[in-house]
This record gives sequence, C-alpha cells and structure tokens, in this order.
Amino acid sequence: MSDTSRGKGSCLCGEVSFIANNASKSVGACHCNMCRKWGGGPFMAVDCGPNVTFEGEENISVFNSSQWAERGYCNKCGSHLFYRLKANKQHMMAAGLFDDNLLFEFDHQVFIDEKPSYYCFSNKTNEMTGHEVFSRYRSPSE
Ligand SMILES: [Zn+2]
Ligand SMILES: [Zn+2]
Repeated sequence: MSDTSRGKGSCLCGEVSFIANNASKSVGACHCNMCRKWGGGPFMAVDCGPNVTFEGEENISVFNSSQWAERGYCNKCGSHLFYRLKANKQHMMAAGLFDDNLLFEFDHQVFIDEKPSYYCFSNKTNEMTGHEVFSRYRSPSE
C-alpha cells in the first residue's frame, strides 16, 4: 500500500490515546458480519502495523473475537479502538479515532460479499470478498 506516517488519536472520552508510528494513509472498510455486529456498521480502519503505543492502557478491554484476532475498546466510553491480529500484533486502528485525518484516502473495502444491500459507498475503491481476503492473508503456518 501507500507509505506511512505518524498518527495519533484518542477515544471519545479521552481516557485512551495512542500514537501509531507507521499509520497507513489508506482507509479500508470491512463489511463482515462480525465488524457490523461490533460497531453497528462497517468498520473503517487504518492499518498501523505492530508499532502502536497506548496511553491509558488500563482502560482498554480486549474481546477475543476469533482464533486469529482480537478487538479492543475503551471500557469507559465504549469507543472501538482496534482489530488486532494475534500472530504479529498488527493493529487496524479505527479511522475515526485519529485527530488529524487530512491525509487519509478511503481506497479499499473487504468482505464486500457480506455487505448488506441497504447501504453502498460511492467512493471508487478496491473491493475484495471474504474468500479473497483469506486467500491473500492466510499465513503458511496455519
Ligand atoms: Zn474512552
Ligand atoms: Zn470485518
């Protein structure tokens, strides 16, 4: 994807803040059933890799959402913070948390096959089905 930059952000109540040293400039939306259950709608996220530092970590609760990933949220205000891969600690930070989002470009959507028909983004983006995502990211060890 595109190059990265340093981004910072916080949850709604401010008890959790973070610095992502290698935040991607591209924003992705995930339409999968789990993300939509979790957030009430598609999950808009920024790939920040493993290099994310948090303040107020005691206010982060982590939900073990699958064998390979977990989801963090602020236990004071309920803001969704990240989807994180257990194997390499890659953080997909929720796009809405960032204080400065001028550089972001919404350029990809995943699990497009699980998107309900009642909404549709008009942005021109790359789209991948769940099957395409899994076959692209499945690690050889699994
Ligand atoms: Zn909070
Ligand atoms: Zn998802």
